[in-house]
Amino acid sequence: MSPVVLRGLAAPAVVAALTAVAALAFGAGTAIAVLATGSGAIIAFHVWQLARLERWASEPQDVDAPEGHASWREPMAALYRRVRARQLHQADLAATIERFRRAAEALPDGMLIMDSANRVQWANQRAQMHLGLDLPRDIGAALANLARQPVLVRYVDSEAYNESVVFDSQREPGATLSVQIVPFGIEEKLLISRDISRLEAVARMRRDFIANVSHELKTPLTVVTGFVETLQDLELEPHQRRRYLQLMQEQARNMQRLVDDLLTLSSLESEQNPLADTPFAVVPLLLALSADAKALSAGRHTIALDIGHAAMVTGSRDELASAFGNLISNAIRYTPDGGTITLHWQVAADGTGEFAVEDTGIGIAPEHVPRLTERFYRVDRSRSRASGGTGLGLAIVKHVLLRHQAELDVMSEIARGSTFTAHLPAKRVRRVAEPEGAAQAAPASTSN
Ligand code: ADP
Repeated sequence: MSPVVLRGLAAPAVVAALTAVAALAFGAGTAIAVLATGSGAIIAFHVWQLARLERWASEPQDVDAPEGHASWREPMAALYRRVRARQLHQADLAATIERFRRAAEALPDGMLIMDSANRVQWANQRAQMHLGLDLPRDIGAALANLARQPVLVRYVDSEAYNESVVFDSQREPGATLSVQIVPFGIEEKLLISRDISRLEAVARMRRDFIANVSHELKTPLTVVTGFVETLQDLELEPHQRRRYLQLMQEQARNMQRLVDDLLTLSSLESEQNPLADTPFAVVPLLLALSADAKALSAGRHTIALDIGHAAMVTGSRDELASAFGNLISNAIRYTPDGGTITLHWQVAADGTGEFAVEDTGIGIAPEHVPRLTERFYRVDRSRSRASGGTGLGLAIVKHVLLRHQAELDVMSEIARGSTFTAHLPAKRVRRVAEPEGAAQAAPASTSN
């Protein structure tokens, strides 16, 4: 017999013994009184214990089980241990669910769980944002009734989830979403939504770029092919032949410039081409740029050089020379004959280096300025082409400056002129007392 049963029988046994003794010593009347009192006390005790158990059972679950007395001690303790174990298990479960929820919220993608009837069961914040849902309000509603994009509704209803579906977000204009449904468990479904706007933009840029390059090469190629055919098919006068060959040469040079600029851009963008960080004296570079500018202008413009301070610059001399050279060539190409182009250099009070090209040229309307550094962006396509432009000059400038943590600033006024300024960060510029090297001989300001 179990100890609990034995303990439970102990009190009735004592009452029975006391009743027997009372019967022998005092007679039947006293014995009945002892039996009644003893039995009453035992019943009252058990009813009290039962009442405590009942009260506890109807309490919320996380209240500890009451302590039992006498024969109730062991069963109550066993009950307490079981409840405690279940509470710990539930706490573990809750912590696991909470961890899962936090992980799902941290995901860069949207996650949504649907039941077999495609009703929303749960979704993280990102999925709610992507699909325009509001939880807990939308829990239990069919996704097809909540989603606003017909293409998504068709996809959810199709039950064919091998492919993902792509559509424009209605919440964020310009954003593109990709949604994939993955069945799991017993007819449940996991929906994963992803913002692919950036990927789409890169793919679009790549497509546009290829289309632009093809177009840019097609024009001179068509011209060259046409002249070659003409030269093959027709007997031409010597002066005509010379003229056609000259035009072919111009077109070939255009293609050469375009290919050169494309190669420069691609090498600037390549991760295999780290920046050659070497200190160099800026004044000799400015003198060389000014000489090149004069050669390019061929006396059509006044070229002035305004050197504020001599300095050493840390970076790639070749890349900066190419970027500054592009700004200068633009100034010359977009300034009518007789205009002035001034190259300024100074070290500002905060230690940054400022190289500026100021011209008195045609100027640029404000709406074009933010897009000037885009590849192949031109304000006036035919003017750019006629002056030998590739539409890539300022894109190259932007990349070179980016690699030097430098910034380009454009100020321009139609018919008055433009100033393009490159701001080099102070950590790349060290002011020196005297002009370095060749600069010793240079005047602070030179002009044509
Ligand atoms: P492009 O080879 O056509 O000159 P860039 O990338 O160098 O290409 O310049 C982009 C466009 O910016 C040019 O087509 C031109 O319209 C405008 N632009 C650049 N520099 C100047 C300037 N100094 N004055 C006026 N317009 C300019």
